[in-house]
Amino acid sequence: MQDFDSLYSNDQSVLSTLHQLARAHRILEMEGHGDMSLGHMSYRDPEGRGMWLKRGNLGLDEVQAEDFLLVDFEGNVLEGKGILHLEWPLHSELYLARPDVNFIGHSHPFYTTAFATTTAEFGPYTNEGVWFAKDGVPRFDLTSNIITSIELGKEHATAMGSSLAILLSNHGCSFVGETVQDVTLAGVFLERACKFHLTLATSGYDYRLPPQEETDFKLEEIYRPKARNNFWNYYNRRLDRLEKSGRL
Ligand SMILES: [Zn+2]
Repeated sequence: MQDFDSLYSNDQSVLSTLHQLARAHRILEMEGHGDMSLGHMSYRDPEGRGMWLKRGNLGLDEVQAEDFLLVDFEGNVLEGKGILHLEWPLHSELYLARPDVNFIGHSHPFYTTAFATTTAEFGPYTNEGVWFAKDGVPRFDLTSNIITSIELGKEHATAMGSSLAILLSNHGCSFVGETVQDVTLAGVFLERACKFHLTLATSGYDYRLPPQEETDFKLEEIYRPKARNNFWNYYNRRLDRLEKSGRL
């Protein structure tokens, strides 16, 4: 890793978080979120200066800790070098609307984008879907275009409400988390849940949701903090294996 202490910040916790967030991008690539150089994740700056957003012209699989720009909520780049993603207002307006959110992802995974383009309601059909059971996964269909203005950023944040993810019709998805682990798992689980639902819907068989009380119980039971860490560690080991073998 190059010396980027002077480029960004002397705060080791920011550096170490950016290192984790770079790995989160590569994990998402591994799990079906890659789309050329499109897609980006960000981290709310703990010093209140704005957000650390992946720079443009870089695939999810190529992101390293030095590939982030510190951007304020008006779109001014304060630190770092590279292209600013046009969809920065999608991130800034979500941070302004959601004090509970420290990390945001936006991408175009195949199955999620296909599901987003239907009118079907997202549901907790499997354990992955249970992750989103508390507030559901709404759909944003004001435009299928990219979110490049403050106004659209606000509409996107309003449509998302208190949910952990939102489907963007004919476009992709956004997902959030309090921690880097949580935002990564949200991205991975959303794609798996959408793939499962599409498979069910095209199977020709009848299907059903589990009872609500079972879903509520599973949300508490399956996704305890210790389990979240275990899942995050698993995806990191998998990433290490794939990168070591040159298959990613
Ligand atoms: Zn997009």
